[in-house]
Amino acid sequence: MTLPAVRARLYRGTPRNLARLAAALQRGELVAVPTETVYGLAANALDARACRRIFRAKGRPASDPLIVHIHAPGDLARIAESNPAALKLARKFWPGPLTLVLPKKSVIPAIVSARRPSVAVRLPSHPLFRRLLKISGVPLAAPSANAFGYVSPTTAAHVQAGLGRRIRHILDGGPCAIGLESTIVDLRDPRKPRLLRPGAITRAQLERVLGCRVPVAAAARQSSRGAQLAPGLLKRHYSPRTPVVLHSRIKIQEVLADRQQREGWLFIARPATRVGRADRPSLPSIPSKGRNIFWLDDRGDLRGAARKLFSQLRALDIRGFRKIHVELAAGTGLADAINDRLRRAAARG
Ligand code: AMP
Ligand code: MG
Repeated sequence: MTLPAVRARLYRGTPRNLARLAAALQRGELVAVPTETVYGLAANALDARACRRIFRAKGRPASDPLIVHIHAPGDLARIAESNPAALKLARKFWPGPLTLVLPKKSVIPAIVSARRPSVAVRLPSHPLFRRLLKISGVPLAAPSANAFGYVSPTTAAHVQAGLGRRIRHILDGGPCAIGLESTIVDLRDPRKPRLLRPGAITRAQLERVLGCRVPVAAAARQSSRGAQLAPGLLKRHYSPRTPVVLHSRIKIQEVLADRQQREGWLFIARPATRVGRADRPSLPSIPSKGRNIFWLDDRGDLRGAARKLFSQLRALDIRGFRKIHVELAAGTGLADAINDRLRRAAARG
């Protein structure tokens, strides 16, 4: 039996292709787009029918709101009620991996915000996505371009593998530079900013610009711990099919000692390098090579580890290991964002 030959087409970012994809978006079609964080599945954010297609293609529950992407800072006032704190952050971190949650204006359909009175807005930096936003002339709603709950895509090939039979257009912009979803800050009340999701823009950076504390929202704390999730909420988010087990660098040595060949091991950085406090020379060494041993980064750079995290989890997931053991990142900042995704990947539904 043969499957239908419908397969998404990959487009390079030529001016002609961008014009075609912008026209597809204006007609209400879906286009997978490269961003600096992860690949997104975009639709015209002002068109409820087009946005409904995003939920259908991903199998995403209607209760999970979408992030709206804009081309210029001036577009913010059209879709959200801004405030001085939001403008401060926007001026400092846009274009870039920061999403602001603000009271929404009525042009944004209820489906986009999952019927909440707020909308999440981001101004991305990826040059191809920015050009597409400009040519299409509308804000674009875009969650990650993967089936709901699976590891986010950081290459066009990941999108093709996951959604290739459910969508028609994929704009190929190469591997994502950051590799983790955006930092999300709740600024509905500008005097009480809250961190909803850690990302490449760290809490310390936000606090420096705002001049006040930015506590982690209670809901975000719960969901990243996994154990306290409300039923059906964010379980198996960013999850490979293979069970994921997390360890600190100190603990992992004990487990590795009686390790099983059929299990996979993923480390943040090679032992020869230093990442924060993770690689003090006094720590026992870990074999750096083996059929089942993998390293996220060779240079001890957490940014390199973040960039490769999702593609390594995907690669390990198809190796047929019984379990994937992963080292938690040491330190704060980007390490918080990496560990947040790892904890969700390890949470079992
Ligand atoms: P993603 O799946 O990466 O597009 O992430 C979208 C996430 O942004 C959602 O799961 C929410 O956590 C958050 N988000 C989007 N819109 C809102 C909103 N209006 N209020 C609060 N959080 C939001
Ligand atoms: Mg997602």
